Amino acid sequence: MADDRTTTIHAAGMRMLDTLGISDHLPDAATPIMRIAVAEGAPLTGLAARRRPDSDLSWQASEDPLAYVVRNADLQAALMAALASTISPASSASTGPKGKTDGHGNLQIMRGATLAGMTRDGASMQMEIDSGHGNPSRLTAGLVVACDGANSHVARLAELPAREERHFQTAIVSILRAERPHQNTAFQRFLPGGPFALMPMAGHRLSLVWTMPAAEAETLMVAAPQMFEAACMEAFGQSLGYLHLDGQRLAWPLRPSVRRRIAAPGVVLAGDAAHALHPIAGQGYNLALGDAAVLADCLAQARARGLTPDHPSVWHGYEEGRRAERFLMSAATSGINQLFARSPTMVRRLAGAGFAMLERTRLKNMFSDIATGGRLTRAALLEGRYPGRAPE
Ligand SMILES: Cc1cc2nc3c(=O)[nH]c(=O)nc-3n(C[C@H](O)[C@H](O)[C@H](O)COP(=O)(O)OP(=O)(O)OC[C@H]3O[C@@H](n4cnc5c(N)ncnc54)[C@H](O)[C@@H]3O)c2cc1C
Repeated sequence: MADDRTTTIHAAGMRMLDTLGISDHLPDAATPIMRIAVAEGAPLTGLAARRRPDSDLSWQASEDPLAYVVRNADLQAALMAALASTISPASSASTGPKGKTDGHGNLQIMRGATLAGMTRDGASMQMEIDSGHGNPSRLTAGLVVACDGANSHVARLAELPAREERHFQTAIVSILRAERPHQNTAFQRFLPGGPFALMPMAGHRLSLVWTMPAAEAETLMVAAPQMFEAACMEAFGQSLGYLHLDGQRLAWPLRPSVRRRIAAPGVVLAGDAAHALHPIAGQGYNLALGDAAVLADCLAQARARGLTPDHPSVWHGYEEGRRAERFLMSAATSGINQLFARSPTMVRRLAGAGFAMLERTRLKNMFSDIATGGRLTRAALLEGRYPGRAPE
């Protein structure tokens, strides 16, 4: 079955992909989000549903989309195509540590290789690479940028520990096809067990990320399709008509984590290695783009001063440049999730009423800044220019 999983990329993230020429390789499959609608509690039914709007809080794009929904498979293919176009054909990919390139630096792709060990030797990092063919090879680098996921081996080797939350929720991911048009709206409904999120895709399809207590997810994963659809209708309501299951169901046990530090001499962590967020706001990959953009600025600044990537200003600058957004996003996503998923009904209602009140306050702008990206973190690529080049 086709891999239909999707990622929501905020407007600033898409600007970065445009600047790097990556979106040129994305087919028209990136669906723009023009409206975000957030609601609290079970959907209303009957007359009450007709009298009230479908959300307590909503944002409407004035012109440019707020964000885009992209199939992961398309994004990965575009990233690989953009990478291939920057390196010479003879050296694009290899199964072992051979394919050296020139042009855009010494780019080398080692598929299926794992990092077995890493030590610091003076100003450089020595890495032991296991390519699965017996003899491990060695690599020397001034700076290691580790994107090896939430369970980062590099983080352990560099002694950058994580604080993990206890696992109590699972996210079920799938595709639904709605009877009525979604009008490029992203929906988020905060339910007692966790948020139910629908992101618009082409046609009437929507990407579902439904977070719930782990035991409930186990039951829904094996429920007959009609039972699953009925559960979706009960959770989301009638506003899009009947919701048909239109893809396979996948389950993701959630265990958000955050690290106090994400940089050490010669090592920086990026992506989920640095911060595994609750998917409540669909921001994990966007944060990873922010990591890359800030690191690119730090490296460009060092180069402009005649410094090499191993210079302390690079990893210090990166640590500082990521601190605010990392902690804010981690606290906001886990905090909002805990508030709605674990609080007594009365507290949840109050929070829901708070949402409705936010609609008329300036705080609403803060949430829209998160949704569109690029405000909490300033970086050249997120603003649509190459690091080191002045704004036009
Ligand atoms: C249900 C769900 C929905 C989400 N939706 C969104 C969304 O809409 N928008 C958004 O921005 N984010 C979203 N996210 C978050 C996003 O998916 C992650 O933030 C993102 O995938 C992190 O990418 P990563 O490359 O940092 O880590 P990973 O995807 O975990 O990749 C790590 C890679 O490192 C490799 N690796 C690990 N150890 C080693 C080793 N020792 N040697 C070599 N390689 C190694 C692994 O094989 C893997 O390929 C969602 C997350 C979930 C769970």
